[in-house]
Amino acid sequence: MDVPTARTARTARTDRTVDVLVVGAGPAGLALAARAARAGAGRVEVLEREDEPGGVPRHCHHGGFGSPPLPWLTGPAYARRSVDAALAAGAALRTGVTATGWAGALTLETTSPSGLERITARAVVLATGARERPRSARLIPGTRPAGVFTTGELQRSLHPYARHPIGRRAVLIGAEPVARHAARTLRRTGTEVVAMLTEHPRATALPGIPLLTRTTVTELHGRGRLSGVAVRHQDGRSGLIACDTVVFTGDWIPEHDLARRGGVPLAPGTRGPAVDSAFRTATPGVFAVGNALHGIEPAATATAEGTAAAAPLLAHLSGTPWPTPGPPLLVHPPLAWTTPTHLTLPARGPLLLRTATPLTAPQLEIHQNTRPLWHHRPWTHLTPTRSLHLPTHWTTRVDPEGGPVILSVEGRGRVAPARQPGPPQPAKPGATSPDS
Ligand SMILES: Cc1cc2nc3c(=O)[nH]c(=O)nc-3n(C[C@H](O)[C@H](O)[C@H](O)COP(=O)(O)OP(=O)(O)OC[C@H]3O[C@@H](n4cnc5c(N)ncnc54)[C@H](O)[C@@H]3O)c2cc1C
Repeated sequence: MDVPTARTARTARTDRTVDVLVVGAGPAGLALAARAARAGAGRVEVLEREDEPGGVPRHCHHGGFGSPPLPWLTGPAYARRSVDAALAAGAALRTGVTATGWAGALTLETTSPSGLERITARAVVLATGARERPRSARLIPGTRPAGVFTTGELQRSLHPYARHPIGRRAVLIGAEPVARHAARTLRRTGTEVVAMLTEHPRATALPGIPLLTRTTVTELHGRGRLSGVAVRHQDGRSGLIACDTVVFTGDWIPEHDLARRGGVPLAPGTRGPAVDSAFRTATPGVFAVGNALHGIEPAATATAEGTAAAAPLLAHLSGTPWPTPGPPLLVHPPLAWTTPTHLTLPARGPLLLRTATPLTAPQLEIHQNTRPLWHHRPWTHLTPTRSLHLPTHWTTRVDPEGGPVILSVEGRGRVAPARQPGPPQPAKPGATSPDS
């Protein structure tokens, strides 16, 4: 007879079964759990590796969440709403539990302070969010001083009870919406933001913060604490900006480790799981929603995806066969990617399109073979940091057997002119960018 030792007791796995297992208690996973539990999907369990559910919004103490974005709705309030809705619907939220791998097509291994488990579900949902590429992954040379952050690290270290500034002079590497939130956070806690840098030809500046476009960081300086960042403009000119804090923002990739370990194919454009228009991956029974699919989007998009995935998930639970994916959605440069990657009809939910380079008033064309399906000129310019939400009405004209659906821009669109062609200068406090 095996006598359990302290070691075997710790490493033995408990086997359990649920109906729906959601990995990640951010807006996407919680929205899906709420909708599925309310519809009577059985035991819907959400795993969250952090100590509290709610995902990234828990750390974002500014307003601007919701759909439409509401200035007074902060991230923590949005997170609370999402959590309350899932709990009220009857979903079980388990925090401090990390899904570490797979023991079968629909069986996940988990670890938590209370032990190891093997949980088998009828449907698994990957709602694991996105992560930022840290400085090390961006291959930026130089010393390894203190004062180097990603936005996530910044938000976590400053909120909610920050009383002291994190540094005196900060440079933000990135100028997309998340970078602007980080800039406001820094300023509010007493750190001067001396420059925002972007490699792109244009971006929206914040009043009082110099914006250096077409500029990249080439080296970090400083021993002990950061003393400056070396930067280079696209035209070859370079400079050094004195600062004791640098925040890397904007380079988000889907948190796809669990998907990869389970052999769930990834989309080459986003590096998130490839899904059809019902959020089904190539593995029967496995769905993916939220930033796990495409990197950072507003929380309302993640919530909408989670909500939209509930109906196909319920159909799967009630025995609807897992369909072979419909026609692939392909993009021509300078377009970068779409989510979903395949159209299984009828299409539902957010259909996102991202460009690789800024485009001003592009004419968007959608074809199948040579047959036009839809053309559209968005009223706004397209930027590589924000997705265009496409309607789905044109998908009724897609032939399921008709081959790939191609998205392109006529004449490749007009690249937005640079409005700040000058070289990077050491930032002067109070200077305003011409890009603003
Ligand atoms: C600085 C910043 C500011 C932002 N500001 C706004 C804003 O003003 N308005 C707005 O609408 N949006 C904003 N966003 C975006 C918004 O927060 C995200 O789009 C949203 O949180 C995405 O939801 P999600 O559920 O896909 O992922 P997440 O919120 O990232 O949730 C994923 C969850 O999965 C968990 N997880 C991952 N892997 C595992 C695993 N293996 N086991 C268990 N748990 C796991 C993670 O811990 C996490 O809690 C901001 C984001 C940032 C970073």
